[in-house]
Amino acid sequence: MEILHVSAECYPVAKAGGLGDVVGALPKYQTAAGHIAKVVMPMYKTKFLYNNQFDVVHKGYTNLGNWWFIYTVIKERNNALGFDLYLVDINGLLDRDKIYGYDDDSERFISFQIAVVDWLASWKHHPDVVHVHDHQAALIPFMMKHCYRYQHLRDIPTVLTIHNAEYQGWLSWDKSYYIPAWDTWKSGLLEWNKSINALACGVRCAWKVTTVSWSYLEELRWAANGLEALFEYEKGKCYGILNGIDTKVWDPATDTYLENHYDIKSNAAGKTKNKEILCKRFGLDIEKPLIAFIGRLVGEKGADLLAQAIGDSFYYIGRKMNFLILGSGASYIQDGLERVSILSDGDFSIFIGYDEALSHVIYAGADFILMPSRVEPCGLNQMYAMRYGTVPIVRATGGLRDTVKDFGDPDGYGIRFSNAIVGDITHALWRAVQLYQEPLLMEELRRRMMRLDFSWETSMQQYLDLYASL
Ligand code: ADP
Repeated sequence: MEILHVSAECYPVAKAGGLGDVVGALPKYQTAAGHIAKVVMPMYKTKFLYNNQFDVVHKGYTNLGNWWFIYTVIKERNNALGFDLYLVDINGLLDRDKIYGYDDDSERFISFQIAVVDWLASWKHHPDVVHVHDHQAALIPFMMKHCYRYQHLRDIPTVLTIHNAEYQGWLSWDKSYYIPAWDTWKSGLLEWNKSINALACGVRCAWKVTTVSWSYLEELRWAANGLEALFEYEKGKCYGILNGIDTKVWDPATDTYLENHYDIKSNAAGKTKNKEILCKRFGLDIEKPLIAFIGRLVGEKGADLLAQAIGDSFYYIGRKMNFLILGSGASYIQDGLERVSILSDGDFSIFIGYDEALSHVIYAGADFILMPSRVEPCGLNQMYAMRYGTVPIVRATGGLRDTVKDFGDPDGYGIRFSNAIVGDITHALWRAVQLYQEPLLMEELRRRMMRLDFSWETSMQQYLDLYASL
């Protein structure tokens, strides 16, 4: 089968979160299974671009409304990622340092999508499926089906995967002329709540829609940032397929970011050595359980609850644990956490920023990973943590609910709590501190988690079955 993935992120080229991890891994496994998986994404100014070689495969000329532009598609030459990688260059628009966060993001990503469809229209053959990811690519199924100039692409099956439905790609109607001409009576497909909504349009127009866990799909029917009714209505064509993790990149026995490698048998010693590195670097006490948080510091992740939960834990449980936070995001959350860290007595440290290498050492060296998410479509952190023998403390929502069993249940291994509120988090932290007092049980849970299989093989097969059904 030939699959064309369209995405704004792909690890290691450019990643802001889980989307990048998934699009960097799934095509690799599809290619290894004998399929042709291609990824096309914007050409940002990244290290990857400068450190690899590319060939120009296509040059085109198209328009975003009245603005005509040249785009170039380049292909990575040496199969560095294990699949065919194509980058779309639109001078001045996509070639920037950051992936998102510009005032003209709408123009950037709509131009990207137009360029991708335009390029696809120039192919001499058709791929078996076009698999688009999140709202930055979600207008493509509409364009392929309903825009006059791409009519010959209308029979190519499309799949939309929603990695996060909070972000939907809203566009006011006065910019509707950006989208290549279509039958105006189809306008309703583009609209949600009086504006153009790329994600809603993708849900309506893609042949099939997937979310990155079953529970998230269920939850979207009552909490989807305004799209609840749409998910209820379209539930017949929606499927939940849990993300896998790239077990080649994320393996404590070979992880290139780690100085101290370990496997199931040597987990206790290996983790202690990595913990030592962290405690030394961040001035923490090695004797106490190390509880870490890695991720975007935003309300969706429950990061706004951390400062109070940490303060309350110190007050109610005592200073019996260390906290280490790696992340960046909303300034009010960062400021709040930095204020708490001033009160640290060698038991709380925070690193503001994005640091891939540090995240690996934390997965390896921490005893617990805390994820108090309000929304978690799949969540990769808990899967990485478990592969590294780090006990996840999670709010049971979305993918966290699907992947973490509480250690109080038969064959359980993690700590679950029900509500994204400070009281529930503090209680879960108390359970973690109690658990840490029992080294034999900790060792058993670590071994149990490290044996779990979150590899891509199962999920990849589910995607292939879905494509085949189209
Ligand atoms: P989301 O995509 O919603 O941010 P996921 O759990 O799906 O959340 O994916 C998060 C990914 O981003 C994980 O690989 C995590 O390790 C990584 N990550 C998040 N924040 C940071 C950070 N500040 N530094 C390094 N890696 C980070």
